[in-house]
Amino acid sequence: MVAPCKRTSAAREVRGVTPRPLPKTVAPLPDELLSGWLSRLAAANYCDHAELLAHIEIDTTHGTALDFSIDAAAAEKIASTARVGPDVVRSLTFPAMTPREALLTAQIPFQHCPQCAREGLSLRHWRRAWAFDCQVCGTRLLQTLGKTGGEQISRKLKYRARRGAEILEHAARSRGPRQLRRAMRAVTFAMSLKGCHGKPLFALHSHKPEVRLFCLAAIDAAQSRPLIKAAISSSGIDDYAKVALLRAFEKEQRLLAAVDHIAQRRARSKGPMTA
Ligand SMILES: [Zn+2]
Repeated sequence: MVAPCKRTSAAREVRGVTPRPLPKTVAPLPDELLSGWLSRLAAANYCDHAELLAHIEIDTTHGTALDFSIDAAAAEKIASTARVGPDVVRSLTFPAMTPREALLTAQIPFQHCPQCAREGLSLRHWRRAWAFDCQVCGTRLLQTLGKTGGEQISRKLKYRARRGAEILEHAARSRGPRQLRRAMRAVTFAMSLKGCHGKPLFALHSHKPEVRLFCLAAIDAAQSRPLIKAAISSSGIDDYAKVALLRAFEKEQRLLAAVDHIAQRRARSKGPMTA
C-alpha cells in the first residue's frame, strides 16, 4: 500500500518549497498533456488532481493554464515531486504556436477520444479545432460535455466534416491568412443557418456535435467555387439563408455584391421555368 500524497515536515526543501517526491511515478506518453499526466500521476498515488496540485503547492486555479505556459519554478517543483526531469514536464505543455494555431486551440477540453479517455489519457491534439480522429487509436473524437448521439449523425456529414477538418488544419498552418478567412466565412454561414450566435471559433469548439460537424462540413463545401455555392443556397430565396449569407459576407461588400449578382443571374435563367 502506498501512502497518499501529503506534505510532511521531512519534505525536502528546494527553493524553499519543494515537496516530498511521490512514492509512485508514471511515464508520460507521446502527445500527453501536462494536466492529463498529472491526473494519472495523482491516480497512481491515490489522490485526485486538486490534491496533487496542493501537495506540489501549485495554485489549483492555474491547473489547466499550466498546459499552455509553465514557469521554471513550477516545472521544477512538479519534476522533483514526480521524479522526472524539468524538461520532461515542459515537454508536456503546448509548444510555441502561431497566432492562428493559438486561435484554433481550445483552452479547456471540448472533445476527447472515448477509447483513450477510458485509460485516463488526455492528449494535446484533442484541443485543436481541426482534430477529428484520435491520432493514437483512430476513434472519432466526441464532445466532452455534449450528448454522444453518434447514431443520429449521418455518415455523409461525418465524411464532409472530416474533410473540412483537414482543410482547417491546412489553413491554420498555411503562411497567408486567406485560407483561414475563407474557412471562417463558411463557418459563419453555417452558424447562421443553424441559428447559432457568437464567434466562429466557438462554434468549432462547440459542445454540440451537430453544430461543430455542420461548420466543419461547410468549410469543405466552401472549397469549390464558394460564391456560387452560396448563391445557390440564396437563390432558394429562403429568408433564413439570405440573412445567413448577409451575415457571412457583411464585412466584404465586394463579395456580397458578387454573390448577389450570381443569384440574380441564376434567378433570371430559372425564371421561365419557375414561372
Ligand atoms: Zn484514442
